[in-house]
Amino acid sequence: MLSVSHAVTGAFIAAKLPHPALYVPLILASHYLEDWIPHWDVGTGLSNGTRKRSTAFILEIFDLAIALGLVYLFWQAGQSELNLHVWAGTFLSLVPDFMEAPRNFLRWEPRFLHKINQFHGFFHHSIPDFLLGLAPQIVLLIIVGWLI
Ligand SMILES: [Zn+2]
Repeated sequence: MLSVSHAVTGAFIAAKLPHPALYVPLILASHYLEDWIPHWDVGTGLSNGTRKRSTAFILEIFDLAIALGLVYLFWQAGQSELNLHVWAGTFLSLVPDFMEAPRNFLRWEPRFLHKINQFHGFFHHSIPDFLLGLAPQIVLLIIVGWLI
């Protein structure tokens, strides 16, 4: 899914649970579970060559900016102290995609990441239909926004 979907989910889980021992495994599991849902994201088309890496990279920058902006808006705005759990949850929710970034954008995959990226790929189901692929993510964001 898009970074914004993962980030908002991770921040939400970290904000709701009292301890990292509870939210760390749940946030990682949520990433793979969300990627399992057929979706569109900025990496869609990279593997079959229908999207250029440079285009995906630029789209990813926007995706990350929107993700950080929404997390800030929902959990940090108006707070005098940095909410470390929320930002840790946000970062953690994106770790599986960060581990794939060298392969996706630089065509280089450190050997130690190969198995975990294969695991990620097993769960990842992206579809080329933009609107159909965005629909589950919009529903997810509405549900999280409603539950905050
Ligand atoms: Zn992913």
